[in-house]
Amino acid sequence: MDIETELLSQAMRHADADDVAQSYERSWKRSVTKYEKQSDAQKFGRNGQYREFREQVWEVNHEGEPMPSLFEGGEDSSDDDDLVVSGARLTYKCPISMAWLNNPVTSRTCKHSYSKDSIMSMLRARHGSCPCPVAGCSHTVNVRDLQPDRLLERKVARHLRQLEIEQSQTEYTLIR
Ligand SMILES: [Zn+2]
Repeated sequence: MDIETELLSQAMRHADADDVAQSYERSWKRSVTKYEKQSDAQKFGRNGQYREFREQVWEVNHEGEPMPSLFEGGEDSSDDDDLVVSGARLTYKCPISMAWLNNPVTSRTCKHSYSKDSIMSMLRARHGSCPCPVAGCSHTVNVRDLQPDRLLERKVARHLRQLEIEQSQTEYTLIR
């Protein structure tokens, strides 16, 4: 039950008493205290926008490194396994085509990513949903759950540029 609903229902219960305002204030204080006691991870970890923002900030300072999960080792780490993936997304290859991710899309349910063409042709063949092709993942991929992943797309592009630079450096060394 969210705070507003709780306060409203309390207000209704006490409608004929004088202490509606007091009761409202008490509940409010309780909710604030409860909120303040939470860790940042609890407050913001479930917020997708916050997570993406945090991931972008991390990228600026730790180019190419996977971001550690907010929940790793935390009290909250057991109940929601899809939150741990931000630290585990090491691969930039499509699990279906095994080629570099191209137009990556990420499934909302298990946060696995695929090249758009690969997953779409797989989904078309199976009328819109199929088991996640990532080994060991038990989730179902549904067309509705796929979202274009621009951040991942940038990461793959940067990774490929980095590989190119390393390769050209190797060639340079060989020529010399
Ligand atoms: Zn999956």
